[in-house]
Amino acid sequence: MQIANAIKYAQQQFVKSDSARLDAEVLICSVLKCERIHLYTYPEKRLSNTDLSSFKKLIKLRIEGHPIAHLIQKREFWSLDLKVTIDTLIPRPETEILVEAALDLIPKELPHSILELGTGTGAISIAIASSRNLARITATDIKKAALDVAISNAKSYQLSNINFENANWFDMKDISTYDLIISNPPYICIDDPHLGQGDVRFEPESALVSGKEGLDDLRIIITGAKNYLNNNGWLLVEHGHQQGKTIKQLLKNNNYSTISTLKDYSNLDRIGIGQWVL
Ligand code: GLN
Repeated sequence: MQIANAIKYAQQQFVKSDSARLDAEVLICSVLKCERIHLYTYPEKRLSNTDLSSFKKLIKLRIEGHPIAHLIQKREFWSLDLKVTIDTLIPRPETEILVEAALDLIPKELPHSILELGTGTGAISIAIASSRNLARITATDIKKAALDVAISNAKSYQLSNINFENANWFDMKDISTYDLIISNPPYICIDDPHLGQGDVRFEPESALVSGKEGLDDLRIIITGAKNYLNNNGWLLVEHGHQQGKTIKQLLKNNNYSTISTLKDYSNLDRIGIGQWVL
């Protein structure tokens, strides 16, 4: 089968996807280990039997609903190609807003100590580390398998300013104090019907779900962070789009100052920020 026909064949089967053509192209590129431009330059090139059978396997898994990021084992975030596995959350574009907000608070020319809680693929820490080489980052995850993915991602970008630790929130071996604490914790309610739809079905529940209101982990983080922030240090957390008011209130109840909420690309509340001033 020729490349162009193989793409059409896959596209026709992805009836449920609203990005059928793109899905087909991305999957075939992962089989052929090529860039998308190659598909347009050589549309009549024939797939080997091995490549065709690998492509068909991926098509089948995609039809079953497996996320593209799992099938190609990577996802782009902050222009970085990050390894993704079934043990990690798939980095989302809105989390880049969290990174941008953090970078606005991290000086370029001065050392800055940062703690990231629940790093998953390492996306946030790696994005920050690659933009601020004087930052000293500690990134944690409760799941060893996720931490291994993050470590391998940091290695592939030759970043040596991130220190990884297997830990449950603030329950760390050598916890210190930090200029900035950042987290994209699980924040979905346990009975949210979205958990039974689309890509999230294949992502680890431990990275998504946080109790009845989706707030269990955010509460721990907001309450705990003030004990580990330097004077004037910042806490930045991603949260659910209906949690903006509650997060602001939680920050207020915990005596943070300069509290604000940032919106995501859909104009929904997504990020809570507070400063710890002694
Ligand atoms: N933003 C993700 C979603 O809605 C959830 C990520 C998270 O819980 N931190 O699917």
